Amino acid sequence: MGETIFSKIIRKEIPAQIVFENDDILAFRDINPQAPVHILIIPKTSEIESTRDIDSKKHSQLLGSLFDAANKIAKDLGVSETGFRLILNCGPDAGQEVYHLHMHLFGGRKMNWPPG
Ligand code: 5GP
Repeated sequence: MGETIFSKIIRKEIPAQIVFENDDILAFRDINPQAPVHILIIPKTSEIESTRDIDSKKHSQLLGSLFDAANKIAKDLGVSETGFRLILNCGPDAGQEVYHLHMHLFGGRKMNWPPG
């Protein structure tokens, strides 16, 4: 399905600062960080373009793994106790630019609510 810039990062065709990887998931620093810690956590499969493509029957294990990875990364990067924010943008109004499911992990600074 959808070939995106993230497919190239997964195949290591373009560089990224990887902070976590296993068979199913890759996590790397956002190229345009909005916080001291800004990580993108993505499934290696490109079959899910957006949260609206998630089917719990097919993807529940993968989604659990995304959250496991987020918790591990937050600990490893020292923001687990201070707090962090996980964001999944879905579609144009949310500002989704890359149509390969990804979770943003923000941390290392105080954040506002509601987000802009
Ligand atoms: P979205 O707006 O789709 O939720 O987020 C896409 C994110 O991907 C943006 O925060 C953007 O900075 C990041 N991004 C886009 N291209 C690249 C890239 O080539 N490398 C990295 N590391 N991040 C990227």
